[in-house]
This record gives sequence, structure tokens and C-alpha cells, in this order.
Amino acid sequence: MSAGFHGYSRQMVAGPPRRLRNFLPRLRRRRRSFSRRKPVVTLTSVPGDEQQDRRGVAHGESAATEIAVVGGGISGLRAALTLARAGRRVTLFEKNRHLGGRAFSFHTSDFGEVDIGQHVWLRACVHLEELLQDLGVPGDWVYRQDRLSMTYRTVRGRVRTLAAGPWPGSFGFLGGLLRLPDLSLGAKLQYLYANLRAKLYSQQQVEELDRMSMAQWLRRQRQGRDVIAWFWEPLIVGVCNARLDEVSARHGLHLLRLTVLHSPQAAGICLLRTPLSAVFDRWARRALSGAGVVVHTGAWVEAVFPGAPVRLRVNRSVVAFDRVILAAPLGRMRAMLPDVALPPPPAEGAIAGLLLRFARPVMDELFFTAVGSGVQHVFNKTAIWRDLPADGSQIIELVLSAAEREARLGADRLAAELLPPLAGHLPRVRTTRLLAKRLLVHGRATFQVPPGGEVRRLPLTWPGVDHVIFAGDFVATGLPSTMESAALAGQLAARQILAETPNLVEKQRRD
Ligand SMILES: Cc1cc2nc3c(=O)[nH]c(=O)nc-3n(C[C@H](O)[C@H](O)[C@H](O)COP(=O)(O)OP(=O)(O)OC[C@H]3O[C@@H](n4cnc5c(N)ncnc54)[C@H](O)[C@@H]3O)c2cc1C
Repeated sequence: MSAGFHGYSRQMVAGPPRRLRNFLPRLRRRRRSFSRRKPVVTLTSVPGDEQQDRRGVAHGESAATEIAVVGGGISGLRAALTLARAGRRVTLFEKNRHLGGRAFSFHTSDFGEVDIGQHVWLRACVHLEELLQDLGVPGDWVYRQDRLSMTYRTVRGRVRTLAAGPWPGSFGFLGGLLRLPDLSLGAKLQYLYANLRAKLYSQQQVEELDRMSMAQWLRRQRQGRDVIAWFWEPLIVGVCNARLDEVSARHGLHLLRLTVLHSPQAAGICLLRTPLSAVFDRWARRALSGAGVVVHTGAWVEAVFPGAPVRLRVNRSVVAFDRVILAAPLGRMRAMLPDVALPPPPAEGAIAGLLLRFARPVMDELFFTAVGSGVQHVFNKTAIWRDLPADGSQIIELVLSAAEREARLGADRLAAELLPPLAGHLPRVRTTRLLAKRLLVHGRATFQVPPGGEVRRLPLTWPGVDHVIFAGDFVATGLPSTMESAALAGQLAARQILAETPNLVEKQRRD
């Protein structure tokens, strides 16, 4: 057993092959079927295991279905919490030291605790919002717009704000859009026409656009370069983390219909005012523990043996469960199930964040979209964190999606490339001393769903992989690789198990 992985609350079959061979016959003898309503794994007293007492289930007694969740990202957190609150006994295995998966933050000497990348969501992300609520995350940790309001800064220093009115879709922007001096009337009408078309499609028509790229669809709607730069790229490239020709039109339009075309509220922008790990690691641990989930971090699940029970080899030890949720990225799931022909992993996109500390504030708003340069989106981290440094400095972050090229440049070269246009967007940059810079790169931040890619996504279950349910943002949710897709997939996986397995603790109480 490797260091740092102690105290399973489930009966462990410790050790490499010889002990595994000894264990298997015993496991088979001990195996219980669901029809007999007994747990597969007999509980044993493990020193320091407080979870069983908290649940009020005596050691060795029949208890609820034993479920393992592999992966402590947003999907795994969602699944574990739902199942535990419904009375199932849940153990979560996470290979990292932290929970939260790709949504994490870490300490740096020059910028304090920083996120791996700015995470943003829209109010239409109801499953993510539900998770935050279930975790009990305090309301003032989250910034939420009541209605979509976008600040644009052109490279010539002009500032434009488009705030949605009470009407749905781009029509909420109608007044602001028609007054916008930077676009011709023809371009505006073209944009409104494309929105109208997208709105009038039936769901089936949207799905039929799976083989077409978003770039092709925009060409068909005669969208010019300006409207693409102002409206289509910030939304589609920002959310899908891929270029317009790498995103299926089905995905792009589904996204548009769920957000901007749904209602001004649904498109409201949200972000955390705390570091990601404050929520998805530190706060989540408390919530999971309160719900009775046994959490093992530093626990690498090396192999999964489907069946009844499902066995997991974790840090070279084997444990058995009634059901297992695999909430890891697809590449990892394939490694855990080498004999199963899961779909090939999709292409992945990089996200780069250039953190800059200026001696004095260079921007006032929380964030803006940069038009006419490669700067993309800029976030005022000092204001988001509500942190007022004593020296009066300001930290901002330039967030670049589909950033495969930028991710390879390094902080100095990227800063040399982006600081001149940034000074166009933010004139104060020209006269303010830059104190520090740091480049954050995640080369495999999100997967891509290119034209025709939706059908290659993983369903919740796979033939022959018994009693294993897949979760993670790659599961076929119809959404791009986002926290919302992860939360939805985790919820779907948990619901599938709840539908399949009885809550034995409840049943015993009733009987
Ligand atoms: C830089 C960056 C910026 C992003 N920006 C946004 C954004 O603005 N908005 C948005 O919605 N989304 C954003 N995302 C995407 C979002 O973070 C992910 O879609 C989401 O967090 C995925 O959650 P998940 O649970 O599906 O997967 P993951 O977070 O990948 O979690 C999977 C977990 O499984 C664990 N694991 C893997 N293999 C094993 C194993 N063998 N044993 C045990 N554990 C294992 C991993 O360590 C990981 O913790 C961004 C991602 C990055 C990296």
C-alpha cells in the first residue's frame, strides 16, 4: 500500500496479486445478490473510521448499497453528495491531494492563491447552481448578474456596455445593439436574423446540424467579421474553448438557445469571488463529510473489474462495491478499463491565463471582452476577490481560450505580444508600471465536440461493463466541456443508481 492511503472504511483486500488470489474465493462466497437485499461488502471496524458511527449503522450490520465514486471533480462531488443524502453509503476515491478536479486553485509566491484558470458560468447552468446550493456555498461567494450585461473595449480604447432589457434573446439587446456605433446597420440586421433563425429551429433541427461546424453555419447566415468578433466568438469560443470551425453547429446553437435566446436572466454571467479550491475542495470536503461520504484523496484507482460486485484496484489494494461511478476524464476511464472498447478520447483544447500585477489600477469594471485584438477576455482579479492590496496595486488576468499556440509561448513572449493591444483597450496600461507576471496554462483544459462528435460521447452505461455508471463532463449531456456538463452528468449517474438500488437503511427503519 502506498503512503497516504490509509483507513478504508470498507473491508479491504489488501495487497498485490497473492493476497488478491486468496481473497477472491472468499469474496465470491461472501457475495450477496441485490435480490437478497444485503450489502456486498461486510463492514468491519477500522480504527479512526467515524463515518459509520455518524450514520448510526453498527459495524457488521446490513446497510445501504455500497457505492464508490472514482474522481473528486465536480461530477464526482455531485454524484457522491446526491447518493449520500439519499441514504446510500458512498466512498469517494480521488487520486490528487485536492478535490475539485480541473476546478482548482493553488498557492503562488507572487500572486497568492490563484485559480488554474478563470471559471465562468451563465445562470442557465442550473445543475451547477444546484450543486453550489447543496454544498451550502455562501451567497456572497458568488457574483451573479441578474441579466446579461457585457462590457466591450475596443482596441482603440472605446468602452461599450450592452445590458439586456426585459425581453428574451438578442431582442433584449435591441436598443443597445441598434445604438452601437461600431457596427453597420446591415451587420446588426444580419446578427438579428441569425438569432431569429436559431430561435425558430425545432430541437430536432438543431440536432440535425451536428455535422456542420459553427463557422459553416455562420457563413450560411452571412455573418460578417464584425458581428463574429463582437458576439459569436466571445460566446462560442469562450464557452466551448475551441475555434468556430472546431465546434459543431448543434452545440453552438444549443448553447445560444439555452442562454441568450432563452431569457436575459439565463445569460447572466456568474463567477466565484473565492479561489476555486475554497469551494470545490475545502468547502466540499465539509459538505461531503456532513453527508457521510468517506473521502480518500491520494487514492489512485488503477483498474476497475466490472461485475457483481465491482472491484476496484486502488493503490495496489482491491475493494469491492455494489455500484461504481467513474467520474474521471475519458482517457483515464479507458486506462482503468483496458479490455473495454470505450470511444477514443477526443481532441482537447488549451486555456491560458496571463496574470499581470500593475502598480496602480488599470481597469475599473469586473471584466470586459476585448474586441479587435487577440486579448479575448480580461478579468479584474483584485475586484473579483474584493482584495485591496495595501500597496494600491491591481491584478488582472487575460484569459485566452483555444490557446494552443499561446500556451507554448511562455510568460515573457506572450506578455510582449499582448501588452501593446492591452494598452489600446486599457489606456492606463501605457503609464502604469508592471510589477509581476505569471502565465497559467492548462494544455488539456476541456475536450472538444467537433462536427459529428456528439455521437462519440459516452452514455451513462456501456454494454458488458456491469454495475459501472459513467459520469464526468464527457458523458453525453449535449453540453460542451463545462462545469455544468460535469454537474449534470454526476446527477444523472446518481439518479440512475437511486432508481436501481433500494435504500436499505430506510427500508429497515420502515420495517
Ligand atoms: C483552465 C480551465 C478553465 C476552465 N474554465 C471553465 C469555465 O470558465 N467554465 C466552465 O464551466 N468550465 C471551465 N473549465 C472546465 C471545467 O473545469 C471542467 O469541465 C469540469 O471541472 C470537469 O469536471 P469533471 O468532474 O467532469 O472532471 P475533472 O475535473 O477532470 O475530475 C475528474 C477527477 O478524476 C480524478 N481521477 C482521474 N483518474 C483517476 C484515477 N485513476 N483514480 C482516482 N481519481 C482519478 C482526477 O484527478 C480528477 O480530480 C475549465 C477548465 C480549465 C482547466
